[in-house]
Amino acid sequence: MSTEEIINRAARGEETDLDDIVALLSSKGAEAERVMEAARGVRDRMFGNKTFIYGFVYFSTYCRNDCAFCYYRRTNSLRRYRKSEDEIVMLSASLRDAGINLVDLTMGEDPVMCADGHKAMRDVVRRVKEEVGIAVMASPGAMDRESFRPMSEAGADWFACYQETYNRGLFSKLRLEQDFDRRFNQKIWAREAGMLTEDGMMVGLGETVRDRAEAILGMGAAGCEQIRAMTFVPQKGTPMSGTDASASDDELISIAVMRLLYPDRLIPASLDVEGIAGLRTRLDAGANVITSIVPPKMDLAGVAQHELDIDNGHRSVDHVLEMLDSMGRKAASCGEYNETVARMKSKVRIGD
Ligand code: SF4
Repeated sequence: MSTEEIINRAARGEETDLDDIVALLSSKGAEAERVMEAARGVRDRMFGNKTFIYGFVYFSTYCRNDCAFCYYRRTNSLRRYRKSEDEIVMLSASLRDAGINLVDLTMGEDPVMCADGHKAMRDVVRRVKEEVGIAVMASPGAMDRESFRPMSEAGADWFACYQETYNRGLFSKLRLEQDFDRRFNQKIWAREAGMLTEDGMMVGLGETVRDRAEAILGMGAAGCEQIRAMTFVPQKGTPMSGTDASASDDELISIAVMRLLYPDRLIPASLDVEGIAGLRTRLDAGANVITSIVPPKMDLAGVAQHELDIDNGHRSVDHVLEMLDSMGRKAASCGEYNETVARMKSKVRIGD
């Protein structure tokens, strides 16, 4: 089947199989452009020219895990920080005032914040929800099943936990000493507790195109309301520091294919890979959320690019709004975003 035929099948909502997805992901040049053009059309039909914008507060860079790809793995020696509750509330409020729709409260698996069923993390979520009054995404890594209901009750609208790959062999080489099924179940347990979920895959970690296709199908089948692809950036001091960095083409075509297959999902354009320079290409591939907006001069880090474009203010809300404007796109209001969240939440079946 030709690329055009597969695009048309997807546009009609007909099932596409693994081989179709591999074919789309393998498209290059003019064919890849055509896939992205179709993805933009799908995005614009579903969401108009509105783009959601998320602030990112990476409030603790301590972590008990040792993921092979990650700068913040416990065995890497670096200066770490943990923000206080008051600081996190202040940072979230300043992002809200600047115009974001959601604040993503992210940490490594910090033993202090994870203790006692993630009580400290939950307290942060509760204070941000009550005092800042904005949609909240909790990104604390993996939690025990019993911690999900209290996290939802504390006010987390979303729970994010990226699998990175659905290839179990590759997973075991990347997320050392971690269990694939426990991580996958994070999304199931979060939905049972009434939260929306985000999953993500990393591109350029040694996976095949088929692995990427399987990850896209896996994330879609898990029902995650937000799904993402991000290019791996080799990190200093890690076992993968010598890996060749990939161009972003595979990430862009992955975004487009996710959009074609799952028209109503939220798909981020992350500033964490190429900074502001990579925003336009990701939106042109069909993304409808801008993530990893970090306020400047607050001594906060990103994940893949811990400094890129932060202190020069290019990852600030004002700069992103200017970029959106130049592309003829508009930032959604919080009211519009909250309506989208409420509509998605009405479809989540809370477990007993
Ligand atoms: S990816 Fe997350 S869990 Fe793994 S080492 Fe980094 S911060 Fe920790």
